[in-house]
Amino acid sequence: MSALEGLIRTIPDYPKPGILFRDVTTLLGDAQGLKAAITLMAEPFQGTPIDAVAGIEARGFILGGAIADRLGCGFIPIRKKGKLPWKTIGQEYTLEYGIDVIEIHEDALKPGQRILIVDDLIATGGTAEAAVKLLRRSGGEIVGATFIIDLPDLGGLALLKSHDIACHALVAFEGH
Ligand code: AMP
Repeated sequence: MSALEGLIRTIPDYPKPGILFRDVTTLLGDAQGLKAAITLMAEPFQGTPIDAVAGIEARGFILGGAIADRLGCGFIPIRKKGKLPWKTIGQEYTLEYGIDVIEIHEDALKPGQRILIVDDLIATGGTAEAAVKLLRRSGGEIVGATFIIDLPDLGGLALLKSHDIACHALVAFEGH
C-alpha cells in the first residue's frame, strides 16, 4: 500500500448500503499527505500552458485551489445548481436515481482558455464528463483531468479518455 493510500479512510455502507466511501479528509488533515497529493496531481501538467483549474464542488475546491497556485493559474468553481451568485450556465447529468446539475458563471472563462479539471475521486465519470461538456460549451479547451482516487471498475477514466482528455489519478481502488 502506498503512503497516500494509507492516509485514505474507507467507510463501508456510506452514504448507503454497499458503497465503500473513500474519505480523503484523513489525507487532507496530514501535512505531508496534503502536500504530496497536490504535488503529484499537478506534476504531469507542469510545463503545460494552463489558464485555469476548474475544481468540482466540494473536495475539488480544496485540491484545485492549491493546484492552481502550484501551476500559476486561476481557479474556476464548478458548483451544484443554485449556489453561484452571478448568471450561470448549467449542465445536467444522470445519477443512479435522477438527474443533477452543475453550473459555472457564464463569464468564468474566455473561449480558447486551457483548463485542467480537478476532483478528489472519479467513479462512473458522470460528474467529470458533465464538467467537460460545460467547460467546452463555454469555449474552454480541456487540457486534462486529475484526481487523487480512481475506481477503475466503474470506468470513469476510460469515459473521460473517450473524450480525448489526458487523465491522471494517484491511487486506484478495486470495486465500488
Ligand atoms: P462519478 O460522477 O460517479 O464519477 O462520482 C464522482 C463524484 O462522487 C466525486 O465528486 C466523488 O467525490 C463522489 N464519489 C463517488 N463515489 C465515491 C466513493 N466511493 N467515495 C467517495 N466519494 C465518491
